[in-house]
Amino acid sequence: MAEVVKNEEYTIEITGMTHEGQGVGRVNNFTVFIDGALVGEKVRIKVIKINKNYGVGKLLEILTPSSQRTTPFCAHYKRCGGCGIQHMNYQAQLQFKTNTVKDNIRRLGKLEDVVIHDTIGMENAMNYRNKAQYPVGQVKGNTLIGFYATRSHDIIDITSCGIQSSVSDKVRQVCKDFIIKNNIEIYDEEKGTGLIRHIMTRVGYKTGEVMVVVVINKDDLPRKQQLVKELTSAIPEIRSILLNINKKKTNVILGDRNVKLYGEEVITDYIGRYKFNISPLSFFQVNPVQTEVLYSKALEYAGLTGKETVFDLYCGIGTISLFLSEKAKKVYGVEVVEEAIDDARENARINGVENIEFMVGEAERVIPEVYKSGVTADVVVVDPPRKGCDEVLLETLVDMQPQRIVYVSCNPSTLARDLKYLEEKGYKAVEVQPVDMFPQTAHVETVVLIERK
Ligand code: SAH
Repeated sequence: MAEVVKNEEYTIEITGMTHEGQGVGRVNNFTVFIDGALVGEKVRIKVIKINKNYGVGKLLEILTPSSQRTTPFCAHYKRCGGCGIQHMNYQAQLQFKTNTVKDNIRRLGKLEDVVIHDTIGMENAMNYRNKAQYPVGQVKGNTLIGFYATRSHDIIDITSCGIQSSVSDKVRQVCKDFIIKNNIEIYDEEKGTGLIRHIMTRVGYKTGEVMVVVVINKDDLPRKQQLVKELTSAIPEIRSILLNINKKKTNVILGDRNVKLYGEEVITDYIGRYKFNISPLSFFQVNPVQTEVLYSKALEYAGLTGKETVFDLYCGIGTISLFLSEKAKKVYGVEVVEEAIDDARENARINGVENIEFMVGEAERVIPEVYKSGVTADVVVVDPPRKGCDEVLLETLVDMQPQRIVYVSCNPSTLARDLKYLEEKGYKAVEVQPVDMFPQTAHVETVVLIERK
């Protein structure tokens, strides 16, 4: 058994990074993970936790800083759970993401000869998010609106967030002043009592339109017309103010009922030349600038000539389907959330696109049925959630033998697993392109071109 003692201090070298962005080092041959430490650094740590196979260290002092280290721009960085890698300069962040993808694909996926490109970053990796969800809470009589601390539900009162749009900061401040001035009750997460739970904003980046959603635990908000007046006079870009009713004792932020207080029920934004209606509950990529980069890459990899039948699986509100539609003969979009498919149909309609058919259901159930009925795809795009594709779906695709599969992934480890499966069944991963959709965080998005051997 290695000699590591809890609450003892040690000086160690950081020899690697986890995929979550923690530094990895060894204390007397025992692995420890340290938030905020970078590879190549010599650091002093205190061991705060010892598990069976690894320990957790708290960073006390950086003795030799890495050249990749930078001063985080946010004053709340140490506590806030929003950003994980602000202490890396942006070039280093991109390199870290490329390495994460390479490590997964080469080590877990055992794919040696696939080309893995450098991560495409943003020109300005700040203020990129089009959606903010601020929990509202109260501690010792003080109203707090901000974000949760890392691995906890303690709310940090954040006046300005460097990855959100500045208009979201303004909305937060107006709501906070309103709550304090009018003594509005605040929700208590543990007891399930009180009124205001969350403030959510959505922002159309190209249109400038702003939506404000106040999530409450009852049916009504006192002095709501005053809130409308204060919000709209302070922030003229606001096009929609809604109450969202959520009376459940749950971590899920939004309930399923909205009540309009002002303006429209949706705002609009564009990705490329396509227009999208965004409602409080619809899934919409949070970084619209990089979404365009990602979708353009997916379209390029799809290699369409106008004759193809294309499946867009896990299609959400049909964003990728629309991008594909202009170069395909026919697109079939499949998505499990019914409301998302309603939005997808509406989005196709407002863009005057007629060659897409949307279907509700799990891709692993719908696609075997569709295939049995005689419809096959020349090209398939998949964009699954973190758990990756179901094996039944991959099996059906392998039977169907599309020329190309374009895999969009938010989780490199399930991506590597699925690529390995496809490789064993006659498909070859040709090119891998990571795209930085979530600067300042350890999340990586990847698009892969896979061809029939
Ligand atoms: N391609 C879309 C959405 C990607 S997010 C976009 O770029 O905006 C992944 C989507 O997969 C979510 O909308 C989720 O509801 C959906 N989903 C999850 N499991 C699914 C399944 N088994 N079959 C079909 N869709 C699924």
